[in-house]
Amino acid sequence: MISEPNDFLSSLDARADSILDACSQCGKCVEVCPMPGIVGVDASDPGQIVSGVLDILRDGAGPADSETWATACTSSGHCIDVCNDGVNPRFMLSLARRAIKKRETAEVRRDAGKQGFKKMSQGVRILSRLQLPPELLSRLNPSSHPERDEAPDLIFYTGCNMLRTPHIGLFCLDVLDRLGVSYEVYGGPSNCCGILQMRPGDDANAGRQAYKTIERFSQTKTSEVLAWCPTCQIQFGETTLPSHSGNNPDFDMTMFAVYLARRIDELRPMMTSPVPKKVALHEHPGAEGVVTAVKDILSLIPELEIVELEMPQVGYMLTSLASVPDFRKQLIATELAAAEKAGVTTLAGVYHSDHRELSSHENQWSFEVVNFMELIGASMGLHREDIFKRLKLMQDVDAIVADTKDMIELHKLDPEEVRDVILRDILEDQMLPLDRTEHPDPLGTG
Ligand code: SF4
Ligand code: SF4
Repeated sequence: MISEPNDFLSSLDARADSILDACSQCGKCVEVCPMPGIVGVDASDPGQIVSGVLDILRDGAGPADSETWATACTSSGHCIDVCNDGVNPRFMLSLARRAIKKRETAEVRRDAGKQGFKKMSQGVRILSRLQLPPELLSRLNPSSHPERDEAPDLIFYTGCNMLRTPHIGLFCLDVLDRLGVSYEVYGGPSNCCGILQMRPGDDANAGRQAYKTIERFSQTKTSEVLAWCPTCQIQFGETTLPSHSGNNPDFDMTMFAVYLARRIDELRPMMTSPVPKKVALHEHPGAEGVVTAVKDILSLIPELEIVELEMPQVGYMLTSLASVPDFRKQLIATELAAAEKAGVTTLAGVYHSDHRELSSHENQWSFEVVNFMELIGASMGLHREDIFKRLKLMQDVDAIVADTKDMIELHKLDPEEVRDVILRDILEDQMLPLDRTEHPDPLGTG
């Protein structure tokens, strides 16, 4: 039985009420949060800021500093472990943003969710097809799943946007194959986590979307879902799964890298090819355990050295820093400069969306940009071309269309639509300008 989205809405309301009861307004979550300093909120009375957030939960409005804090939250998660009163402050702020969004009409919120979803679906559909032939595409984004007598060991859940950089997903499947596990792959827009509706406040459709996906996972009877994307992990783990009352889904959701670290003893004898590189990792703290897991796994690779850049620990991916675009530019510029100064050969990202930004800068710097799965793959003798990076570095729509001509024909794509998507989702999808002379001063230099 599929839970009704109304359950979802009333559950969110009930969970907001529980937070109002539980929060002691101690202010510890504000004290550890990097965002007040970044957005200029006076946090000298942290309890007061939280008190204003509770006003927002209760009445839909609160003091300006509290609203600014709630909308600036980048989900870094530093607050989660410091609360002694059983509140997840990150989820509390997500509920506060929901309350703020309710000031818009339901129609405006629904339209914003619809537009966001439509744009994402189109981008994912075109970019994945420009890079993969049908047989590889159906491996990473199957349109149907066979009936099984037995439950698969796990589900590999790509989320939506990883399909824009499909070589990363194919590496994940290659490694799962080597581990000999049985799995089903779910993802793409039809198995969305609902975040694109949730952000603009269309919670009804966010719940509908997420519950459908949860039911599909449940039907496989698997006991574990591996999430690639931290957005999905946070959305399911903190927002939708705890509200879902249908079949009481009997699966755990684990970040893919954390799962790999759990299987580290089996990976060790497979990761034997030397990868003589000096590697800095592009880190975000938001998905618990992922950075440690990635470093533990990379440290198995012969001749690979990990270099620490000591960057600020903010957000869960670069996209999560959308509320602070200038800070985000500074963060990326600072990291690129620090990586060059440290003499690394390689800057490795953890997530797909970070790869889209970081790889675009490769031609301007002294090091390569890869995703960490490429390094694991190299140590196991696996290779998948990073077609996205090759196309992005062309920086020319005609060159990209010419390069992907065969795929456009093979998938019968509309050439005009392809051009529009290349412009919007490859060339204009840029957080920091490529030209180093246009970069802001590094963080900490005024
Ligand atoms: S999740 Fe991060 S940014 Fe959001 S409130 Fe907690 S510490 Fe601050
Ligand atoms: S959410 Fe937790 S840490 Fe934050 S003020 Fe309330 S009780 Fe304190």
